[in-house]
Amino acid sequence: MYRVLVTDKVHPKGLEMLKEKGFEVVVDLDAYKPEVLKERIKGFDVIIVRSRTKVTREVIESADKLKVIARAGSGLDNIDLEAAKEKGIKVVNAPDALKVSVAELVIAMMIVVARRAHYSYRALLEGKWEKVMGTEIMGKTLGVIGFGRIGREVAKRAKALGMDVIAYDVFDLSEMAKEMGVRFTQDLDEVLKNADIITLHVPLTPETRNMINKEAIEKMKDGVIIINAARGEVMDYKALLEGLKSGKVRAAALDVYPEEPPRSEWLMELIRHPNVFATAHIGAQTQEAQERTSVEVAKRIMEALGIS
Ligand code: NAD
Repeated sequence: MYRVLVTDKVHPKGLEMLKEKGFEVVVDLDAYKPEVLKERIKGFDVIIVRSRTKVTREVIESADKLKVIARAGSGLDNIDLEAAKEKGIKVVNAPDALKVSVAELVIAMMIVVARRAHYSYRALLEGKWEKVMGTEIMGKTLGVIGFGRIGREVAKRAKALGMDVIAYDVFDLSEMAKEMGVRFTQDLDEVLKNADIITLHVPLTPETRNMINKEAIEKMKDGVIIINAARGEVMDYKALLEGLKSGKVRAAALDVYPEEPPRSEWLMELIRHPNVFATAHIGAQTQEAQERTSVEVAKRIMEALGIS
């Protein structure tokens, strides 16, 4: 019998599927801290995590029976993939399950900040009746940085809303873009210079860390809107704060942060900025995405262990 440790909140449906196949499933939401996890993980064949649990090299090296690390979600930046590979531990995830939920949040954020609806709401809470002026998104150019699963879902919806879309990716995805009526480029500057609204959808890797920095912001159009629902670290948020203060950046909508939950004073200053709309990493927080993710990840665990 395989033993499964679950250290983050995962929808029960996939866990039930595993139990039906004879897995022993232990949910321990207090075990997510690396110093606790490196002891707790002993004796388990599988660990299921979301983004909160950091499966570090130390955790992986102290595991004695681990065969599969399952990420109930898409980003794998909280797992030391190299350490897992060295020990022959398989890593599985559910990359397709939450793309629609994240894309829908991005579209919502884009309209909220373009119309300054977040500002109007804040003012109302303070008893102020402010008729804020916004802009439409129809006819505007959306720059999609990272034309993967989520980037493409965002692009599809933006096209339906009458936007022009220009997408950038390291891989040549021009054929796919053409079919969708999206302009494709492998020159990042082309997106930075031409987009009215920029949305980030790259994974966090050594190449993408701080990819949108001060120099990149300087190349953008004056009054640009920036959305980040990828990973906080792909953008230099100190540079973003400067951009908001100078007016170079008209508004920003953020779902992810270099520190989660955000605590540093400078980061809170960014979040409190009147032209920022911020959410607490809720991109995948829908009933549908969570259920789909848990089912998909359960299937992948069984595949990895050769169980049909
Ligand atoms: P994906 O792998 O399907 O797509 C990522 C794309 O980025 C790929 O096309 C890849 O070629 C491209 N890319 C990689 N490195 C690049 C680089 N240096 N320059 C340009 N392009 C590069 O991933 P996805 O499922 O679309 O997820 C995208 C991001 O969304 C990830 O950062 C993921 O962690 C994040 N995410 C956030 C939430 C949330 O709750 N906010 C939920 C799920 C995923």
